[in-house]
Amino acid sequence: MGTTHTQGKAVKGAGGDGWDDECRKALQACGIDPTAYGSYNDRKNAQGKLRKAYRERRDREAAAARGNKKAIAECKAKGWTPRAHEPSCPQSAAKKGKKPLCMCHESKAALDDMQPELWLRANSQSAHVLGNAFMQGRRGDPCSNVPPGRDREGRPHGGTYGYDDTQALCTDMLGDSRKVGTEHYSGTRVEDALGESFRTRAEIRRRNGEPEATANALDTNDLKMVVSDTQEVTGRGPPSNHLKDDDEALETKKLHREARAARAEELSQPTAASGQGQQSSASGASAKKNKKPKKPGPSADDVAKMQKCIEDRWEQSLDTMRAQSVAEYGPPNASGALDAHNAGPPPVKPPKTWDQLSPAEQRAAVVKRMEQLEKRGAHDAMVSKESREKDIAEKRKKGEPVTAADKAEAKRAPTEDECREYQALWLHQNGGNRTPPAFPPMQGKPPATMPDPPPALSGGVKSPGKKK
Ligand SMILES: [Zn+2]
Repeated sequence: MGTTHTQGKAVKGAGGDGWDDECRKALQACGIDPTAYGSYNDRKNAQGKLRKAYRERRDREAAAARGNKKAIAECKAKGWTPRAHEPSCPQSAAKKGKKPLCMCHESKAALDDMQPELWLRANSQSAHVLGNAFMQGRRGDPCSNVPPGRDREGRPHGGTYGYDDTQALCTDMLGDSRKVGTEHYSGTRVEDALGESFRTRAEIRRRNGEPEATANALDTNDLKMVVSDTQEVTGRGPPSNHLKDDDEALETKKLHREARAARAEELSQPTAASGQGQQSSASGASAKKNKKPKKPGPSADDVAKMQKCIEDRWEQSLDTMRAQSVAEYGPPNASGALDAHNAGPPPVKPPKTWDQLSPAEQRAAVVKRMEQLEKRGAHDAMVSKESREKDIAEKRKKGEPVTAADKAEAKRAPTEDECREYQALWLHQNGGNRTPPAFPPMQGKPPATMPDPPPALSGGVKSPGKKK
């Protein structure tokens, strides 16, 4: 199959965008921008910037069409055409004095204005390559990461310790995830369906007497399948059974496929492959005028290769994320462990720096700090202090009663930072102290399966650390 060594190759032969030549080609054949991978906020900002600029443009053009002299001059200077908002834009149907958000960027006219590369980006939402809900019980709460344990064969795994939703690999998913006909909508449905099948599988395993921790577990292959099947939507297009003969959905799907195909065409141009931004858009424009794309989409091989490449990239990103977590809290930056050492007993005076500790003292300091954090419940709290406080504020806002138990739990719960620190130290002790790091595989869980809110802090999951 020739796929077993892809992971290593992707690292070694990677260019500035992090892909090797083969992967870059497969992505391009699918009309996917190889540079569109980064953190959640990176992608969100790249997309939002384009939408904002286009909205401003359409606003000025509409003002010019209404006869605004300043806007007319501005359009002339910028080469814009005075025109009203698109018929599909909420601004077209808006009552006087109301100014709903302009959605002209979704239109065919916008595709002509922006050209495929920028249009695809402007019409995308930032999305985790693997849905966040497979990794955390509560979005953004590191205390709800899956605790480490042993897999079904008895081998150790690291749960999702060190997972950070803001650092996890994200990309541009085309279209609004709530709008039928978009790739993002269908990708989300694929994730939902897989989540459902994993929950069903867990139920069968449980019925057969398998313990909760392994019944519910999603190993690396399960998680890769989610990544891969979601990406398949981008390669092949949303399935028609999601569209339900809705004209608008069919229109959206058609326009999205057209833009993808045009982008693939653009990326296959020799000048576009190395160029970017303006340059590739310009060459795409002339290519589009001269000839139509010959084939309806990428080949099956291209799609399969693209899926494999993104799976591998996702898997690598987990180790990068975990290494970052260790770098932040582990030696030589282990300020929590150092404080634990200096606090004694007896207190170390004058306090030592990390470098002044012997290797044995450093190891003991890390273990001591982990024990302190375990007493705070930082290893398996499932919900952080911050989240619990948010819940209480929410209850108050809704006028619901806040019980003494709610307050006690919030007081007792570890902070997000304590959970992050504990997980980083655990990772340091479990492969992160090697060069290069060799972490145990990650293991997630089906979405909506972590109790939320969880059982009382004292019960539930066994400590991955020492017995207390
Ligand atoms: Zn508009």
